[in-house]
Amino acid sequence: MTARVSAGKALDKTARNLKNQLAMHATLLLNASYEPLRIISWKKALTLLFSGKVEVIDEYDHQVHAITFAIKLPSIIRLLKYVRVKNLNRVKFSRANIYARDDYTCQYCGKKFPSEDLTFDHVVPVARGGQKRWDNIVAACFRCNHRKGGLMPEEAGMHLIRQPTEPHWLPAFHVTFRLKSPPDSWRDYLYWNIELDI
Ligand SMILES: [Zn+2]
Repeated sequence: MTARVSAGKALDKTARNLKNQLAMHATLLLNASYEPLRIISWKKALTLLFSGKVEVIDEYDHQVHAITFAIKLPSIIRLLKYVRVKNLNRVKFSRANIYARDDYTCQYCGKKFPSEDLTFDHVVPVARGGQKRWDNIVAACFRCNHRKGGLMPEEAGMHLIRQPTEPHWLPAFHVTFRLKSPPDSWRDYLYWNIELDI
């Protein structure tokens, strides 16, 4: 019983180590247009490479050995054919991303605030059918949010400093990775909110 438990634990540890190693050598997959699509495992990257669908843009020093050859692990690969992506590059609708889109600036008074002093404001109030969407939610300071209350901006005598829209990219530093630190070679390509898929 005890032996089985510790064997299980050892397996867990091996799986964890393997996962860490995979994460260390994850591959950034770019579209033919050089836009990042997603982060994939190096194994998946090699499969794509052998299928002739991608080219290697950059590689790690680390290599894997097969029976007849050794190959360096690709850090960035690019699809040779452009794929049209519908939702892949969509920026996640989240508090953090709304603040990032609005540059931590209250969209009514135009002042910058730390995120803890900001809140969401429905431009068209919920009671008037306003929805939780990119084009109806803005970052606002508590004072402006309170002042506006359940009114339309014009009724409250307030003006948006700009019309909210769905962002198609976020500045690189807002990209959220589950990886601790993305490889240096990825830096030039990280303009998108991409998801880790390993
Ligand atoms: Zn304000």
